[in-house]
Amino acid sequence: MGISKRDPIIIVGGGAFGLSTALHLTRSGFTDISVFERDDHIPPRYSAANDLNKIVRAEYEDPFYTDLTIKAIAAWKTPLFAPHFHQTGFLHCVSGEAPQKAIDTLNRFRASADGNEQIKPHVVPLKDQNDIRQACWQLNGPLPGWTGYLNRFDGYAHSGNALAGVHRAAQAAGVRFYLGMHGAVDEIVYVSTLQGKKSSGIRTKDGKFHPSSLVIVAAGGAVGRLVPEIGKKVVAKSWSVAHVHLTDEETSALRGIPVTYARDLGFLFEPDPRTNLLKICPMGGGYVNTDPETGVSHAPATLEESAFVPEHDEAQMRKLLAHTLPALAGRPLVKKSLCWFADTDDSDFIIDYVPETSSSVVILSGDSGHGFKMFPIFGSWVFGLIQAGRQSEARWRWKYSNSDKEKENWGGDVSWRIGESKELSEIRPGVSAKL
Ligand SMILES: Cc1cc2nc3c(=O)[nH]c(=O)nc-3n(C[C@H](O)[C@H](O)[C@H](O)COP(=O)(O)OP(=O)(O)OC[C@H]3O[C@@H](n4cnc5c(N)ncnc54)[C@H](O)[C@@H]3O)c2cc1C
Repeated sequence: MGISKRDPIIIVGGGAFGLSTALHLTRSGFTDISVFERDDHIPPRYSAANDLNKIVRAEYEDPFYTDLTIKAIAAWKTPLFAPHFHQTGFLHCVSGEAPQKAIDTLNRFRASADGNEQIKPHVVPLKDQNDIRQACWQLNGPLPGWTGYLNRFDGYAHSGNALAGVHRAAQAAGVRFYLGMHGAVDEIVYVSTLQGKKSSGIRTKDGKFHPSSLVIVAAGGAVGRLVPEIGKKVVAKSWSVAHVHLTDEETSALRGIPVTYARDLGFLFEPDPRTNLLKICPMGGGYVNTDPETGVSHAPATLEESAFVPEHDEAQMRKLLAHTLPALAGRPLVKKSLCWFADTDDSDFIIDYVPETSSSVVILSGDSGHGFKMFPIFGSWVFGLIQAGRQSEARWRWKYSNSDKEKENWGGDVSWRIGESKELSEIRPGVSAKL
């Protein structure tokens, strides 16, 4: 290991990957850790994980991630994480109108669940609407053509509360947090070396230089601004999120429902008992924000630019409600936003040193919209990387550019996504569709 446990380490980003890393490094004996977060509180509003809930489902098409999620679920059941984990089950279906791609994906997920000894006993096949109603009586909509399975091994986590819990635990363990203007990182500072360059620390927006031996960048959809070397290998992408505000009685009646997911429509969660909000996400190829000069997509700088959902997504969310909980289908959708994440073309994370930085900068990126479930254990992989001094897991290595293979349509080729990505500039309210 090239870095000692007393060396100063800076983590940029107080979202899911950054906080998990701070927790694991401090638990592993590192004594000088500082987290820099541009929002003035945690959970940060810019974090994709600043949310009521995220799906925690173990079955993946790639058994590598299935095994990791089984470990993550065991960790979700430990004292720090357990208050935020709800093993309500995952009702995973397609509607009668689903395209073949969605049906094929569902079947691969089902095969993954059925093929795993630990998960299989929890899987209930649901061949039609009647089976679904038997499994969850609250879903009193027509469920036209719905078929799939319920996996009781899975559930969801209250992600915003989980971030807050780990923030408190890391702070209590001695991790320093710089927030707001003192935490917004403007640049990684480099010095020249015989081999090229090496980071000496970071500079924050308030002009201060903070020295460190290692900078770990966990900046979510904003990674490209701090590590431009990643280029188009990571694409800032967003999906829509909206909520229905329920009454106390409605929330109470829906307590314990599984995460309900139609691959061709989207998914909804058990309502949050504190806010009475029921969260819905439509399934789609998502939205990118490409800089026309560089061709690189970045998350927009302000939250206001993402405070809406496109009409098409709103219609899809209403359709999901009409199929499942029709009494809510005409209700106002509130707290609408586009939520930004860092996408890779193979959905693999990137957990590696940035090349040619003399092992002074680590990038934690490419969450690809499925990283939160790993929150309790993610940081242990960063500790493993630092300890080994290199990334031994090929999936998580730095992605070298290969412009011949660079894809025009991010998302369309990923097996578990339906639909193609669009530019934010095309879907902003007030922009009429191109013919
Ligand atoms: C709509 C949606 C649904 C999702 N659903 C699921 C799900 O069901 N299950 C699941 O497992 N995962 C899900 N995810 C993915 C999950 O949210 C992410 O994998 C996870 O949040 C990634 O963590 P991160 O730390 O990389 O990024 P984030 O959590 O986004 O955190 C990045 C942080 O970096 C900070 N930052 C950025 N730039 C700077 C800077 N210059 N200076 C200081 N701070 C900076 C930001 O303010 C932010 O707080 C979903 C994502 C989206 C968008």
